[in-house]
Amino acid sequence: MIDLRSDTVTKPTEAMRKAMARAEVGDDVYGEDPTVNRLQEMAATMFGKKAALFVPSGTMANQLAIRLHTQPGQEVIVESKAHIVRYEQGAAGALAGVQLHWVTGNRGLISPEQVEAAVRPKEPHSIQTTLICLENTHNSGGGTIYPLATIERIRAVAAAHGIPMHLDGARLFNAIAATTLPPASYAQHFDTLSVCLSKGLGAPVGSLLMMNDLTLLDKAKRLRRMYGGAMRQSGILAAAGIYALEHHIGRLKVDHDHAKQLARRLQQIPTVRISPQDVDTNIVIFDVIGHRLAPLAIVAALKQEGVLINAIGGDSFRAVTHLDISSAMTVEACEIFTRVLGD
Ligand SMILES: *Cc1c(COP(=O)(O)O)cnc(C)c1O
Repeated sequence: MIDLRSDTVTKPTEAMRKAMARAEVGDDVYGEDPTVNRLQEMAATMFGKKAALFVPSGTMANQLAIRLHTQPGQEVIVESKAHIVRYEQGAAGALAGVQLHWVTGNRGLISPEQVEAAVRPKEPHSIQTTLICLENTHNSGGGTIYPLATIERIRAVAAAHGIPMHLDGARLFNAIAATTLPPASYAQHFDTLSVCLSKGLGAPVGSLLMMNDLTLLDKAKRLRRMYGGAMRQSGILAAAGIYALEHHIGRLKVDHDHAKQLARRLQQIPTVRISPQDVDTNIVIFDVIGHRLAPLAIVAALKQEGVLINAIGGDSFRAVTHLDISSAMTVEACEIFTRVLGD
């Protein structure tokens, strides 16, 4: 089966499993797991931040960040199709007690002008804006990369209003691989940022929440405990993360090439609507118009031929390339798309 549903489906490689099996461990709630500590130091150095905290998921990293920067009854600016809006079970409202102020972006990217317009006035009737969240790359936007210049200008707007910024960087390594910009060039504009080790990087579990402010780190550790994310001998998981940081960043470019290849082939199918130039990284979003089968039946027909993708609402579909998709599988997926969607 050629599984293009998500880059979360990757399995640890043999070499990664060996690194996990060899990991030195301790109790991380006591701060005594040497492998977790090493991963945290590595990530903090890589992103130019003072501290990194290992957490079980990207959702937890984002939710700790929202909680760190806000009080109940305050407002967070976020793009309308953001992971924080769509895929975190309303945690910002349920756990942090904040209201999300959606701004609709272009392929998930919002402008400094939109952010400026969304900041609430500091007067007694208005809810207070206390955090701005960006997502890079933007998952539902189609793996879209934020231009660094746009981030810089949004940061200037935020600074003028004294509002901190959080980056949902679950997929930031894809932006880093595609642009070859140093990780810190993105990270420097955010008070907190999260990155996932379990997406394109291929680790089985884990995210990191990074920051400069050590009082935030202390608070984040307590919140991680509150949210049930404090782990014990988690060095076994951290070892996979270290292996991924050392070996799997550069190869993300291969996934991006495969995604482009899929997009170009899809473009040749009459029922498919797609702009291959919009495929920045490893996510391919396309529409199928006027096919005899309904979206879920298309997914089933592709599955029967050996390709798994997701229907994501309306006429839209999403295919994601990753570590476990070879060049040969990409070629085969192209053939299957042509056969099923061109039918
Ligand atoms: C995957 C993802 C997350 C976190 O997902 P988890 O499944 O909780 O690890 C957060 N943000 C974005 C943009 C993602 O793609």
